Amino acid sequence: MEIRPILDPETATRNMAEIEPKYSPQEAVTEANRCLYCFDAPCIRACPTGIDIPAFIKKIATGNITGSARTILSANILGASCARVCPTSVLCEGACVLLDRDQQPIKIGRLQRYATDHVLDDNINLFSPPTKKSGKRVALIGGGPASLGCAAELALLGHEAVIFEKKPEAGGLNTYGIAYYKLTPEVSLKEVELVKQLGVEIRTGVEVGRDITIPELEKEFDALFLGVGLGSTLRLDIPGEELPEVVEALHFIDDIHTKPLHEVAVGKRVAVIGCGNTAIDAVTQAKRLGAAHATIIYRRGERDMPAYVYEYELAKQDGAEFVFYAIPEAVLERDGHVCGLRLVRTEMDAQRNLRVIPDSAFDFPCDMVIKALGQEKMTAMLDHLLPGLDLADNGTIRRDDQTGQTNIPHVFAGGDAANGGSEVVNAVGEGKKAARGMHRFFSQQEATGPIQWSRMGVVDAPPYGAGLDAPVRVQETATSFR
Ligand SMILES: Cc1cc2nc3c(=O)[nH]c(=O)nc-3n(C[C@H](O)[C@H](O)[C@H](O)COP(=O)(O)OP(=O)(O)OC[C@H]3O[C@@H](n4cnc5c(N)ncnc54)[C@H](O)[C@@H]3O)c2cc1C
Ligand code: SF4
Repeated sequence: MEIRPILDPETATRNMAEIEPKYSPQEAVTEANRCLYCFDAPCIRACPTGIDIPAFIKKIATGNITGSARTILSANILGASCARVCPTSVLCEGACVLLDRDQQPIKIGRLQRYATDHVLDDNINLFSPPTKKSGKRVALIGGGPASLGCAAELALLGHEAVIFEKKPEAGGLNTYGIAYYKLTPEVSLKEVELVKQLGVEIRTGVEVGRDITIPELEKEFDALFLGVGLGSTLRLDIPGEELPEVVEALHFIDDIHTKPLHEVAVGKRVAVIGCGNTAIDAVTQAKRLGAAHATIIYRRGERDMPAYVYEYELAKQDGAEFVFYAIPEAVLERDGHVCGLRLVRTEMDAQRNLRVIPDSAFDFPCDMVIKALGQEKMTAMLDHLLPGLDLADNGTIRRDDQTGQTNIPHVFAGGDAANGGSEVVNAVGEGKKAARGMHRFFSQQEATGPIQWSRMGVVDAPPYGAGLDAPVRVQETATSFR
């Protein structure tokens, strides 16, 4: 049977509301006062964007909420979304010294949200474009967290940044892909506005490679940043995959972000294939949108799941079901629609190799199948865009870890396209590093004269890094904070 939306508008909105309630001022101050303001704080080192966590917490404790937000956002312009979506238990909160004393770690994520929401909700204008300009221009391809982090840092360093995004709105997966109950598109779009406050230009609805070419960009800009993310969900390659109710997790989640919630079609019995964080997001959202049963099908066991433990716990609390040690062999069809999956049982041998158990097939009833097996790399697109670009065997962009520079000296990269798929905060951190890498690259050019473009986009430039070992002092050109 064809699948339809299930819930009325009110229930859909209630079910999908953000899961973490906002702190009240009293709660925030009480939590902030638990912080020990550690010297050489391990929480700072655990944050890929290096936010000065004790400093922003201290400002909350003393009632300087705008100053607290400024501390956060000047280190991580997407601090509001990171406050909601970061796996804090394995990053900053996981490093908090209070854990060693058998106490609860400071709720850094919730405090960060408290401070940044104050600025976003009250439209407080924290930033303005820097007055001191370098004259260097950078084109950033893709408008996700990596490019936004990179563009903000470039702007703070005095360079001009122009983002090209193929979708109608910028923000990447923050706007279109992260579970709605963690981060709404509204918050993501407010952060995009913050980036614009720094003077960054964002051209949406422009696909690089289709609407504008790399050689055209190279004529106009001094360097390029590749923040193109990852591609479509991997295929199942089984019979029945083309049926209308077999959908990619990213398309299902995209629907949730672009349609009114009560208009999103969902099955009554949903099967989600895969057990990473995307699968967990899909199964949880299917359940919250009214599916009677939403079940993860995973070929291995509970202890092998790639999903974070806290995500798994949330899915279980929401009533998601799990079938471990099973793989789909075919999608079953009735009258042109999905009516089930043919599954086969698997098992692990002593060496933990997976094998299919012969004659173990069984049918699993469902009316919707969501594929969540991971995303493809952008190999074909990157080969087409920049034929000389060096890609690793797994299809990611090879780049210097510290500077983001690729084998093409004026081309830098970061985020999922380079790290193979990680977290928002990693994308922002890598974007920031690449901005500093470009800053050093430009300083080097000033010292050695203008670079020459070649037809392939490859530059004749001196070896990277000579004489430029001093760290970039970001505040030098960041004259714009009010
Ligand atoms: C379902 C899902 C849930 C997730 N949940 C979490 C979470 O809870 N917490 C967390 O920290 N991380 C989460 N992540 C990971 C996080 O979203 C990514 O690590 C992050 O968005 C990567 O940022 P990016 O800028 O590299 O790529 P993206 O966010 O993918 O942005 C890339 C952008 O480039 C654009 N683009 C691509 N090609 C072109 C072109 N040729 N021209 C113009 N534009 C182009 C795309 O349209 C896109 O907007 C999740 C990921 C998924 C898939
Ligand atoms: S490690 Fe914990 S207690 Fe120490 S500064 Fe960071 S949040 Fe505060």
